[in-house]
Amino acid sequence: MAEFHFDPRTRREMDPEIPDLQKRINYDFDFENVVAEIFALLEKKTTLRGFRLAVVGRDHKKRPLLASPTMPRKGKASRCPLLSYPLPLTNDEVRYTFDVFAFETPQLNRPDSDLLEKCLDLLYQAVNKDYHERDHLSGLYNRHGFLPRMEKELEAAKAENQPLAALMMDLDHFKNVNDTYGHPVGDLVLFEFASVIADAAAGHGTVGRYGGEEFAAVLPGHGEQEAMELAEAIRLKTEKIKVWVDKAGGKFVAPTCSVGVSLFPGHGSDVETLIHFADLALYEAKNAGRNRVALYPLDAPEARLTKLKETVEAGELEPLRDLEGKCKILSLRGRDLVPGLPLAVAVDGPRLFMLDGQAKTVHLYDGKAKKFVADLGGPGEGPDQFEGPVDLAVTADGRALVVDAPSHVVKVFGPDGGFQGFIGGRDADGAPMFGYVKGTFNEPVAVALDGEGRVLVAERMNRRVQRFTAEGEFDGLEIPLDAVDVAPPYQPDPRDVAADGGGNVYVLDAGNSVVQKFDAAGAYVRSLGGPGPAGDAGRFKGVVALAVDRYGALASRLREAGAAVPAGAPGVVVTVEAGDVNRLQFFDVDGTYLGMVDFARLAEKLGRSVRPGRVTVTSQGNLYLVDQEGADVLQLSFAGG
Ligand code: GH3
Ligand code: MG
Ligand code: MG
Repeated sequence: MAEFHFDPRTRREMDPEIPDLQKRINYDFDFENVVAEIFALLEKKTTLRGFRLAVVGRDHKKRPLLASPTMPRKGKASRCPLLSYPLPLTNDEVRYTFDVFAFETPQLNRPDSDLLEKCLDLLYQAVNKDYHERDHLSGLYNRHGFLPRMEKELEAAKAENQPLAALMMDLDHFKNVNDTYGHPVGDLVLFEFASVIADAAAGHGTVGRYGGEEFAAVLPGHGEQEAMELAEAIRLKTEKIKVWVDKAGGKFVAPTCSVGVSLFPGHGSDVETLIHFADLALYEAKNAGRNRVALYPLDAPEARLTKLKETVEAGELEPLRDLEGKCKILSLRGRDLVPGLPLAVAVDGPRLFMLDGQAKTVHLYDGKAKKFVADLGGPGEGPDQFEGPVDLAVTADGRALVVDAPSHVVKVFGPDGGFQGFIGGRDADGAPMFGYVKGTFNEPVAVALDGEGRVLVAERMNRRVQRFTAEGEFDGLEIPLDAVDVAPPYQPDPRDVAADGGGNVYVLDAGNSVVQKFDAAGAYVRSLGGPGPAGDAGRFKGVVALAVDRYGALASRLREAGAAVPAGAPGVVVTVEAGDVNRLQFFDVDGTYLGMVDFARLAEKLGRSVRPGRVTVTSQGNLYLVDQEGADVLQLSFAGG
């Protein structure tokens, strides 16, 4: 049965498309499509031509928002509409107008005006519904309006196997404009900037005001070249903006902007990731001097990391998260091998060195003889005693290097356990000293050895790592963490240090939740990890320690256990998080996330929770991990071990 719709007021039959449009506004709202259909209906059913929805700016200027296909191009017709209807918002503000240009028949007949009235009502509803998704200064979508539309575009790009680009745009030194000329002038500059972006992106994609003076655009179908070209066009047009502040005095504001670009599928395939990389690129553009366009390198470890994460999540790679199941855990305390309060552990073949923070000593256990054979140090201020030992390492020839933080020195003990001397902490004449002098320490926190037997020491107060020869002489290498260019707020807090077989140095910076990698000459290579929400793979929350698999043995163990470690991988970086999350994460030496052991998932199996501390990797690829909660040392071994 056919449906008839009557207008209760005129008692005449209503156009059947009206209730349909009404439903669309109520339930399946897509502002632009709804308005386009209202225009189409008017063009089909009336003699009028040329419809436009415009946004009214703060300056009372109208900016066209949507137009019907019969609107002639600029200049072809008079810019002045025949009819202009304000579309008041629920708060009585007029921010939109509906303009009828009526090129062909500048006469309004009765049926035309009836339908026009109905359509006005629909437009009024649509505009009000759209209003909360708009930014009222620029007329562009606000963040709430923009993000779902970007989501939609991205879904379409995936379905159609098409590229897509995202832009983040921010005015340069915009605060100066506000500070010098006041906010109203700032608002005008913003409005002009928004117009430049909207004009440039028209027909290419959707734009929105993302934050204060930060704008975003999503450009479906745009690969690297097209996206960079459009970004460059926006930059150039922004350079041409002139906002007069004193026309007589010839004074105007000429803003510039920086643009960050990210790409689907290159950088990732969800909205959050694409925005993140466009933001990173924007930050790079600012850093490089502003007024420029930047693309975050597609092969940067950050980008590779998210790609890998996505591949894992898409099930295209063996999931790496269940390394817990592939990991054998042995409690050394359960075997009566851990007296006191273990803080650090080092392994030299069958010999196990355990730093006991309670007794301020290092217990040396001989696995062959199956007994404790010596205690190194003990509490006190003597040269061979400790005030507060915090870390240790054992050299290939069996010497123990113990960091004593309060006395700012590393103490060296021979294979027999006898005291041999100091690293750092002494002036040229051998007198105790500390400070910011090369070769001495201020609150050393960690010690490690590299493949050449050189000694690395990280200092908390001096925020640096220094390298010493196997004999304990400062070898000239100093790596100041303050010199690393990291996004502010940057407060390096080095807590641990390690080296791979190639002499690259890895420093755990707890202040920035990142591991910084340097080459053997001390040049910055890259960062691994970075801060993230608790539980995010490849990100850190409360990272406290690290170790590096110098021999590549752990790499093969993990591969046997099913982790995606490429054959011949040079080594693995192990990081430790404690607190909100309690886990180990594994990375390759280029920073690609490989997998994790999450103790929360092991709690039931172990019968208790674990709060991990320092970790060490043996030449066999086994891990020894301090468990602060159980005052224990756990031995972890993977498949084949
Ligand atoms: P940078 O080149 O690093 O981006 O420098 P900047 O000065 O532009 O710094 P930032 O992006 O942090 O500054 C944002 C400023 O934008 C701060 C705020 O006062 C201003 N702002 C944000 N929203 C508005 C607005 O609606 N109107 C006006 N007039 N100013 C705004
Ligand atoms: Mg800015
Ligand atoms: Mg900004």
